[in-house]
Amino acid sequence: MSLSPVITAALERAGLADVAARVVAGERLSADDGLRLYTTPDLHAVGALANLVRERRHGDTCYWVRNQHINYTNVCNKSCVFCSFYAAPRDKDKGYTMSVEQVADKVRAYLDLPIREIHMVGGVNPKLPYQYYLDIVAAIKAVRPDCTLKAFTMVEIEQIARVGRVSEEQCLTDLRAAGLDMLPGGGAEVFSDRIHRDLFWAKGDSQRWVEIAATAHRLGLRSNATLLYGHVEQTEEKVRHLLMLRELQDETGGIVAYIPLSFHPENTGLAHLAPPTGMADLREVAVSRLLLDNVEHIKSFWIMNTIAVTQAALWYGADDTDGTIQEYEVTRDPQTDRRQVLAAEQLEALIAEAGRRPVERDALYRPVAEAAHAV
Ligand code: SF4
Repeated sequence: MSLSPVITAALERAGLADVAARVVAGERLSADDGLRLYTTPDLHAVGALANLVRERRHGDTCYWVRNQHINYTNVCNKSCVFCSFYAAPRDKDKGYTMSVEQVADKVRAYLDLPIREIHMVGGVNPKLPYQYYLDIVAAIKAVRPDCTLKAFTMVEIEQIARVGRVSEEQCLTDLRAAGLDMLPGGGAEVFSDRIHRDLFWAKGDSQRWVEIAATAHRLGLRSNATLLYGHVEQTEEKVRHLLMLRELQDETGGIVAYIPLSFHPENTGLAHLAPPTGMADLREVAVSRLLLDNVEHIKSFWIMNTIAVTQAALWYGADDTDGTIQEYEVTRDPQTDRRQVLAAEQLEALIAEAGRRPVERDALYRPVAEAAHAV
């Protein structure tokens, strides 16, 4: 598979002929290449290059999943400046924590749908005991034993281990025994000491995120990985972040998908900032597809990127849209605006309208028809 003469000419005009040659040859890109891809004005040439890689790996397939998101608590003592989701422990009006039975009820509420993946994350609620986490995992698996349970960011794992006075390895082992199947990729934010100091000082830094992810991967628990962009980060910091993830993946092979997360400033400590544009969202998808040569899947999460940008992103490097969701609270007010859902038929139609072939997957990207027949 090669580039068309039109795209080749555009890349030459953008001064990216050498980068394009490396991509066509399947060679690894450098930090300097990443900086150039982030800063060239010709986003569409970068997108076409990323699309080459995307189509080499996945052809015209676009994955989606029947999934359910659960946010078991929004109580959190970390006060991240970019977060609109959390309620401080003393904020009784905004804060909520589901009981074990309420978490199970959330799962029961959608038992009529063939959901294959449950994605569960929450705030860092200092009042919750170790056993609570084991119990909510076990309760979900008791209601839906055939579902893959993807739960707890590396930040939550650090807290759960701390409250249980066990090592993170023991914590992950216990959660796995209770029914945890894999981990989501949130909580990484930006791997930058400067941003950690200014925006999320109370929780673990990049080193901690990578250490906990590596521990999970060594135990056989796979995870996703993310970057929160579009606030105060600098281009060099994003490139460093992506290369740190690439290095982790070289070591462990445990990252299933990378998800660039578009910052939503509303109701955060950074509400004065303009949100990222659609062009910025597409660039994150494209550059990550090109730099993360050892990560199989790049997701355009339609909740964060919007449906419109996600449709375009399927031609800029993304091969996945996430899924049906049902409810999502991380960027919405849970009191008023919890329900966010796309029916399976809607999601498939949106992917087909974008010119891609929708393929329903499970959490590990096995096509559902094949997974159903797997031994
Ligand atoms: S991003 Fe996570 S850890 Fe930070 S305040 Fe929000 S819920 Fe808490």
